[in-house]
Amino acid sequence: AALAQIDAVEGQIHSFVTMDREGALKKAEEVQAKIDSGELTGPLAGVPVAIKDNMCTEGLLTTCSSKILYNFVPTYTSEAVLNLEKAGAVIIGKTNMDEFAMGSTTETSAFGPTKNPWNTDHVPGGSSGGSCTAVAAEEVPYALGSDTGGSIRQPSSFCGVVGIKPTYGTVSRYGLIAYGSSLDQIGPVAKDVTDCATILEAIASYDPKDSTSVQREEYDFTSALVDDVKGLRIGIPRDYFGEGLDEEVKTAVLGAAKALEEKGAIVEEFDLSLVEYAIPAYYVIASAEASSNLARFDGVKYGYRTEAYEGLHNMYKKSRSEGFGPEVKRRIMLGSFVLSSGYYDAYYLKALRTKALIKQTFDKAFEKYDVILGPAAPTTAPKLGDSLSDPIKMYLGDIYTISVNLAGLPGLSMPCGIDSKGLPIGVQMIGDCFKEKNIIRAAFAFE
Ligand code: GLN
Repeated sequence: AALAQIDAVEGQIHSFVTMDREGALKKAEEVQAKIDSGELTGPLAGVPVAIKDNMCTEGLLTTCSSKILYNFVPTYTSEAVLNLEKAGAVIIGKTNMDEFAMGSTTETSAFGPTKNPWNTDHVPGGSSGGSCTAVAAEEVPYALGSDTGGSIRQPSSFCGVVGIKPTYGTVSRYGLIAYGSSLDQIGPVAKDVTDCATILEAIASYDPKDSTSVQREEYDFTSALVDDVKGLRIGIPRDYFGEGLDEEVKTAVLGAAKALEEKGAIVEEFDLSLVEYAIPAYYVIASAEASSNLARFDGVKYGYRTEAYEGLHNMYKKSRSEGFGPEVKRRIMLGSFVLSSGYYDAYYLKALRTKALIKQTFDKAFEKYDVILGPAAPTTAPKLGDSLSDPIKMYLGDIYTISVNLAGLPGLSMPCGIDSKGLPIGVQMIGDCFKEKNIIRAAFAFE
């Protein structure tokens, strides 16, 4: 059924960079045999899944939607995907994304943009655009995305699906091609909150192969799927509803808060100051880490190598110049600049201090609230081509999502309405570290 739906809609949407039809059909047969013999019983056994193309899959092309990895076939599988395979998941293919997850529209992909299934003149958001459209267009029941600064939550919001970025350290980053290592987290994208909680339970694990993996006290998320928010304390940050927020988005998001209040939650407004510093701090830290992480792509051991060159340095230079797209180059240059001697203190260290302050601000808020509720993005999905010309404007669109990554918190985005253009609106729920259950509970009750 998944393959048939892909045949019907993929031409208009372009969710996938790589399809693995034969592999999927073979795997499905193997899993079916294990289900029949009783060896596999869990809820994900035999269910097809799409994986964002920045997670390594053994034997299956993994490009990060970049020319520099156009021919990269990993020799190992990322831990999160392995966890899914153990649960009997069937990988259908790898989804399109912004190149190296840098972007908010899936337009920076070297393989062409993905389009929003609600209206193909509009972007799906990004960077996990292909994962979100694959779910929204019912090509697969669920997908994995990654979120460094909103890349699961924002496209989920633009595509009318549910996405969770877990607490930093919850899902192993082993085999996730690094962008901003201190911010990157893998998470699920699905049609509803129940599916998301179920998938999160399957992919979350302590993994000694990821030095930032955290041994959590529990890996249970589905027990929070109870339709009861009585007494749950929900904070609405006033700063999230000021200038720049689309009126229709504001109304729909406040409507979600009202609905939860009517169900017994305690809803209160408060000031979450410092949020305005999140964008500059994020773009300094993420670019700094990216410039270091992307140094490994040099045309020597794998990936793209330029055809003609004179000597080693010229080979590096030409391979990288030809292999990376403009947004990735911008980040590498910005990152190298903020880390360079003479500027390190002024930019990188200052950004780290800002990050610590943002974390403290959230810590204080979570003394009073279980859930912080606000928009996932200031607008609904923009038109294709509208964002790329002005990177600063694109970065400003990340205002509501990136502070969550800087503070390592879990965040969820789910549909809460449709605007007058017929595009979905998303509400974001943020929880304290390791308190995914609070946001899952609120989301399930709202759904
Ligand atoms: N828009 C953000 C960026 O370009 C989000 C990236 C992400 O979460 N991967 O950095």
